[in-house]
Amino acid sequence: MKDIRTLSLDQLTDYFISIGDKAFRAKQVYDWLWSKNLHSFDEMTNISKPLREILEKNFVINPVSVDLMQKSKDGTIKNGVKLHDGLLVESVLIPTETRTTACVSSQVGCSLNCEFCATAKLKRMRNLEVAEIVDQVALIDRQSINYFSRPLSNIVFMGMGEPLMNYKNVVEAIRKITKPEGLGMSPRRITVSTSGIPKMIKMLADEDLKVKLALSLHTAIEKKRNEIMPFSEKFPLTEIMEALQYWYKKTGSVITFEYCVWGGINDGDEDIQALIKFCRQVPSKVNLIQYNPIGEGKFDHRSIKAEEKYVRELEKANITVMVRKSRGGDIDAACGQLANKTGEN
Ligand code: SAH
Repeated sequence: MKDIRTLSLDQLTDYFISIGDKAFRAKQVYDWLWSKNLHSFDEMTNISKPLREILEKNFVINPVSVDLMQKSKDGTIKNGVKLHDGLLVESVLIPTETRTTACVSSQVGCSLNCEFCATAKLKRMRNLEVAEIVDQVALIDRQSINYFSRPLSNIVFMGMGEPLMNYKNVVEAIRKITKPEGLGMSPRRITVSTSGIPKMIKMLADEDLKVKLALSLHTAIEKKRNEIMPFSEKFPLTEIMEALQYWYKKTGSVITFEYCVWGGINDGDEDIQALIKFCRQVPSKVNLIQYNPIGEGKFDHRSIKAEEKYVRELEKANITVMVRKSRGGDIDAACGQLANKTGEN
């Protein structure tokens, strides 16, 4: 049976007209589905019982469900989220003093092969549907209200998958999350994080979504990047930079570079200088992310000294740099660790 949430408002309108009902009925149902995130026809209280029964006979609503919820000592909540076909993704709620952030997945597994990321070890099984992305946000919003008495404030597409490889659904989900007739959240508090697919970055710039963009850079030295993120061979840094400049020109929104410092890999002066040179080409800032070990020995050498040097040199060069503490490490909810240790996939 068809999932009613695969229908657009226009298609839903056509449907109600085709069964001899009123066009405005579509708006009412759409509101239950996308604004109130309701998962059963039975609760649609302004729809008559006979009509609810017709809908029940003709459509399904495939909600996601929380299969396993783990709470970290630092308040981070990791959800193993079950999809209608039994596959699992992970969605994380990250509370701080001032905000609660949802870290959502865009794919089941990932097709990229970043050596340092746990998700890369999983096969990409499929893209998430629009509703599956929106459901993650709605469920974390409810958790935020339940556990922290405040609604979700930020959303980052930094869970499983590469959002720009599930482009259409991610863009449509963002529209549904931000539209007043959807969840009504602010696009400026949404960050799409990508490993860097130039063509798709440009396309996203043209959507006028008003979201923020982050690039997982990790090194601005081409050869090194190709080694630790092998897929990037197809996307030279010059092309990525050109796409980022296009992004800035179109959106006026500063780009964040996500960057882990690994002893023996990117802790040298030449690495810092390459990063500074890269940053100077487009309005940007740097997030130094604390690496979460995933059992790949090569990346396990943290160098606090090198991190400090990065901060000093970047600041000297007038580049904004932030050091991001890792959250949820004790429950494997931290970046790159979302690899379904529950073992069902
Ligand atoms: N595919 C997208 C989004 C998912 S990754 C992207 O690459 O941006 C989210 C962030 O976590 C990326 O910056 C990624 O490089 C980083 N990351 C991956 N594995 C990590 C790990 N083990 N420790 C810390 N950060 C990691």
